[in-house]
Amino acid sequence: MRFQTLAVHAGGEPDAETGAVIPPIHLATTYEHAPDGSRADGLQYQRADNPTQRRLETALAALEGGSHALFVGSGIAAGSALLHSLPRGSRVIVARDLYAGFRSLFLQLAERWDVVVEWCDLTDLNAVGKALQRHAALLWAETPSNPLLRISDIAALAQLAHAAGARLLVDNTFATPALQQPLALGADVVLHSATKYMGGHSDVMGGALVFADGTWYAGARHARELIGLNASPFAAWMVLRGLRSLSARMAMHCANAKHVAAALADHPQIEAMHFPGLGNHPGHAIAAAQMRDFGAMLSIQVTGGRDHALRVAGRLRLFINATSLGGCESLIEHRASVEGANPTSPLNLLRLSVGLEDADDLIEDLLQALG
Ligand code: PLP
Repeated sequence: MRFQTLAVHAGGEPDAETGAVIPPIHLATTYEHAPDGSRADGLQYQRADNPTQRRLETALAALEGGSHALFVGSGIAAGSALLHSLPRGSRVIVARDLYAGFRSLFLQLAERWDVVVEWCDLTDLNAVGKALQRHAALLWAETPSNPLLRISDIAALAQLAHAAGARLLVDNTFATPALQQPLALGADVVLHSATKYMGGHSDVMGGALVFADGTWYAGARHARELIGLNASPFAAWMVLRGLRSLSARMAMHCANAKHVAAALADHPQIEAMHFPGLGNHPGHAIAAAQMRDFGAMLSIQVTGGRDHALRVAGRLRLFINATSLGGCESLIEHRASVEGANPTSPLNLLRLSVGLEDADDLIEDLLQALG
């Protein structure tokens, strides 16, 4: 079955009891034991498992082409579940350009969790090869990356990782499986913030891990239950609903982003634009090879530094100045402002999540704000 059909149907069989075409939400926190102590369908307690979550996990595994999937309370929880399942003292080689929340987690908690972190530019395969000379459990990639939209070569990273006895995780939040399927390119684990395009409407938090095989699944699942990283069944249901329109939304998101990028690319007040769909983007060729389309996230660096960047964000009428991404509404954000005391994003950088409005309205809004 092709992706778009899977997105509409995976995990969506009509309810066996009622014939309801849209799955029910199972809110029960606990399940009755049979007289002999056994549990129907293995269900016992919501923190471990529930039927709504199972449907979503079936769908997630199908869409990413994995053998198992885990749904959890947020993208950060997905990363936490995996890190908690690694053997003590595991070395993890982490992409330098990375979602700021994960950077903080690695900086502030990895040591406490007995995970050894080494930062590396994963777009530089020589640097990756060197970093892998010492044994590592995991390479942690994010492509396209947040917020610089850097592109790492998933197949090349998988080859390097496997040759060195390591595994490869790809954070596929920006692309979604509609545009990029890392497991098919050799990755071992895919991570998602389902809060973004999968949910698609800025109204549900969730995260997911999808595994190529069963090797790390049981450990991460155990960590989810033990630490309590689970999501509510309602969140699982909302994300399942979001998946039904993922293909259609991503197609329009991508088309709009291309129009916006083309309209702004030569604007005199834009010093740099980071969008892998542009021919001059350093990762364009790799993105064209490993993605079906280039996504709808882009960053611009404006002339006039931080103050001008903030002024531009403040003058927009349609783009909402807010964090997050992947909803129907276009968002813009001055990343450095939300990255804490030591921001790593350039101070003149604005990140755009291009939504589903008419592209011409978005372009007019940006042009009036740039002045
Ligand atoms: N990965 C990426 C690329 C993100 O942009 C984010 C959040 O913005 C996350 C992971 C974390 O997801 P969540 O906010 O759902 O915990």
